[in-house]
Amino acid sequence: MKRVYNFSAGPAALPEAVLNRIQNELINHHGSGMSVMEMSHRSHEFEAILKRAEDDLRYVLAIPNHYEVLFLQGGASLQFSMIPLNLCVNRHVSFIHTGEWSQKALEEAEKLAEVDLIASGKADQFRKLPDLSQVHIQAKTDYVYYVSNNTIYCTQFKPLPKIDHHLVVCDMSSDLLSRPVQIEDFGLIFAGAQKNMGIAGLTIVIIRKDLLERSHSSLSNMLNYQTLAKHRSLYNTPPVFNIYVAGLVFEWVKEEGGLAAIQQENLAKAQRLYAYIDHSQLFNNDVNPADRSTMNVSFRSASATMDEAFIEFSKAHRIANIKGHRLVGGMRASLYNAMSMEGVEQLISCMKAFEEQELGQ
Ligand SMILES: *Cc1c(COP(=O)(O)O)cnc(C)c1O
Repeated sequence: MKRVYNFSAGPAALPEAVLNRIQNELINHHGSGMSVMEMSHRSHEFEAILKRAEDDLRYVLAIPNHYEVLFLQGGASLQFSMIPLNLCVNRHVSFIHTGEWSQKALEEAEKLAEVDLIASGKADQFRKLPDLSQVHIQAKTDYVYYVSNNTIYCTQFKPLPKIDHHLVVCDMSSDLLSRPVQIEDFGLIFAGAQKNMGIAGLTIVIIRKDLLERSHSSLSNMLNYQTLAKHRSLYNTPPVFNIYVAGLVFEWVKEEGGLAAIQQENLAKAQRLYAYIDHSQLFNNDVNPADRSTMNVSFRSASATMDEAFIEFSKAHRIANIKGHRLVGGMRASLYNAMSMEGVEQLISCMKAFEEQELGQ
C-alpha cells in the first residue's frame, strides 16, 4: 500500500525525509555498528545525539541561555502534576480554561493548590477563546497557566497573549515548533513530541533556570526539575530513540528554512482549507473565526450519519485519521508541520467529490 495522507491529531505524521533517514541509519548508525536503540545512553555517540538535538532546538526556537531544555518521559500529561509539584510556593495557581487539556491540567493542580479560574471559554462550549483583556491575577498566585493550541476544540491563541505575570506556564503540545515563539514571555513551556516534534514517549520542557530553585529536595528525583536538569536529562535512561528522532525533526525544520518559513507554510495550508470550508455548500466549521487553529481544523457535514459516510469515503482517497474527537464529533484535519500543501489539496478534492455526490451538482 502507498503511504496515505495522515491527518491524525497525534501520534501524527512525520516528514518523509525524516522517516527515510531513520530507515537508512537504523541498522548501523553512522558506522557505530549498532542502531540508536541499542546504544548506551552514556556513550559518546548518544551524548553527541543528545547535544545536537538540544543545540538544534535551541537554534530553531532561539532559546536563551538562561533557559534549560529537558528531555523527559511520562507524556505531556505528567507535566500537569510536575508543574504544581515543582513550582508552587504559595499553593495558588491561575488558570485560563480553554478545553479538555486545560481541564485535565486543572484537575491535577487542584490536588496540590488552590486554582483560580481567571478566564474560561466554557460558556461558549470552548468554540471561542475567552477575552483576556480584563483578567485579574492575584498577587499571591504562583503562576498563570494556559494551553496555546487546543487540539480537541481546534482553537489557538494567535498571536500568543501578553500576560502580565512573571511566571507564565504554557502547554504547547500541539503547536510548539509550528511558529516562532518569544521564549522569554514564559517561565516554562512544555510539549509532548508526538504532534510536531517526533514520536510519543518524549516530552520537551523549556524552563527558566531561576525556577529550578523552587524544586524541593523532598520531591521524588524523577519528578524534580532541578535533579533532572543537573543530570542534563540523563538522571536515568532517557528515551534514546525518541530523542534521536526529535533531533532529526529539528534538523529538518532548519533545512525547511526555520520557524518563520514553517509558519508561512502552516498559515497557507490552514487558510486554504478554511477558505474551502467557508465556501462549501455542505461542510462547515463552527469555531469563532478569529480563534481558529492553524494546526487542527474541525468541520462537519449535514449530519452525524453523513459525517460517518464522508470518513469512509475519504479512505478511498488515501486520507487517514480524519474522524473528529469524540467530544466534538464531525471531522478533524490536523495540519502539523509534516502535512504538505499537497495533502491539504488532496483533502479538499476529496471533500469536493463528496459534496458533488451528496448534493448532485
Ligand atoms: C496531546 C496533548 C496532550 C497530552 O499529551 P500526552 O503526551 O498524551 O500526555 C496535552 N496537551 C495538549 C495540548 C495536547 O495536544
